[in-house]
Amino acid sequence: MQQQQPTTIRRVGQGQYVIPSRTRANHDHRIDLIAGTCSCEASQHGKRCWAYGVAEAYSTTMGAYLKSYRQPAPTPAPVAIPMARPAGMAALQECFG
Ligand SMILES: [Zn+2]
Repeated sequence: MQQQQPTTIRRVGQGQYVIPSRTRANHDHRIDLIAGTCSCEASQHGKRCWAYGVAEAYSTTMGAYLKSYRQPAPTPAPVAIPMARPAGMAALQECFG
């Protein structure tokens, strides 16, 4: 199985991310989600590059995470544990007791 290089994403500002190119060394995608742009050639030609999608997904995920983090988690309902003795056991104890 071929191991895929993990994508590193760096937040550099409000809605701005830097993702290194997967095909070219020392080449970054500089994404601005607010302006809806990326520094790469694909974006210069009006195409949405993969890195833009990654940054967008990352931002959405992080946004949802931060939102859920701020709100306290709902307290789980108490679980009732039945304390009744098994009827069969009592019957056995009566036989041998
Ligand atoms: Zn790009």
